[in-house]
Amino acid sequence: MAEKARAAVFFGPGKPFEIREVPIPPIDPDAVLIRVTYANICGSDLHFWRGDAPLRLPDDGWIFGHEMTGRVAKLGSRVTKDSLGHPLKEGDRVAYTYFYPCGRCYVCLHNEPANCPNKLERPVGPSTPPHLHGAFADHYYLRPGGQIFKVPDELTDAAVAPVNCALAQVMYGLQQAGLRFGDRVLIQGAGGLGVQAVAVAKDMGAQSVIVVDQIPGRLELAKAFGADHTINLKEVTDRRERVKLVRQWTDGAGADVACDFVGFPQVIPEGIEMLRAGGTYLEIGNISRGAKIELDPSTLVWGAKKIVGVIQYEPWVLSRALDFLVRTKSRWPWDRIISHTYPLEQINEAFAASEWHGRDTSNITRAALTP
Ligand SMILES: [Zn+2]
Ligand SMILES: [Zn+2]
Repeated sequence: MAEKARAAVFFGPGKPFEIREVPIPPIDPDAVLIRVTYANICGSDLHFWRGDAPLRLPDDGWIFGHEMTGRVAKLGSRVTKDSLGHPLKEGDRVAYTYFYPCGRCYVCLHNEPANCPNKLERPVGPSTPPHLHGAFADHYYLRPGGQIFKVPDELTDAAVAPVNCALAQVMYGLQQAGLRFGDRVLIQGAGGLGVQAVAVAKDMGAQSVIVVDQIPGRLELAKAFGADHTINLKEVTDRRERVKLVRQWTDGAGADVACDFVGFPQVIPEGIEMLRAGGTYLEIGNISRGAKIELDPSTLVWGAKKIVGVIQYEPWVLSRALDFLVRTKSRWPWDRIISHTYPLEQINEAFAASEWHGRDTSNITRAALTP
């Protein structure tokens, strides 16, 4: 095993990542060192990179990224099994969580680890042990308490890479939004989360799924994952027309569940308008603190509508996400989620090419680094 790892260190929006050597720490008896094989650029990574919200970074920079998969490089001395009790050994392909509920707070005490406020940590620099804090490196340090699952042989690394963020996130989110058999679902944003949400909603029994985006390639991919209707914002430019289309496709009622996977708050009032009376709006996309919209709260009251915010998920979702991929392997083209791959050294090119905001040309659904 190498004594050092290679990592892409971020120094702030507008500055290039720098490839640095980072020490590989001693492995705690309950930790696991992972050799990262795929590290995806998630929409939230683009928010940090773009500078959508103020970010306080340590002087030695930040190793971020969280959507990833890899192989076991070294097991802590007490780790012999994965989170389902399956034997685990070095070299095994694994999927794992990237956040750590504290287990000792009011929220954890009430059995809501996904809502634990202490798992949302400030950026820490690579000189702070255990050094390997994020996905954009060739190794990741899964801290004690992290959940880890052996990956079934029949799944490719590329199909598994989005599991620990996008896929688990939309599975948990749709469950929290109360999606039921026969529901009509509206999805705003056909990036990695939106496209996978289409497949999950269909598998959960959605009667129909409508997807709104502005990039034709993404809408086409949403159709390949089961979308029944799509709306291209560039073609249907009038908001009233879009709302009318959604009503037409939902027998005049509106959607039971609408989801924001765009990440810019301007889309929220339109999504809420597209809901049926009593419907639920699932908010996942907006992670940039300080971004604001004007919202008429009486539309929630008169329409008896709910807004559900979700950050991360409970670890059991991860094992069900892997089962889901196996079960739907031939139903949907999972290998198409990652549209582009780059070596770690080309991380700056990968981010620039993934940028879709304010551009017409990007056809990247998910770019992955393959360190
Ligand atoms: Zn993510
Ligand atoms: Zn907690």
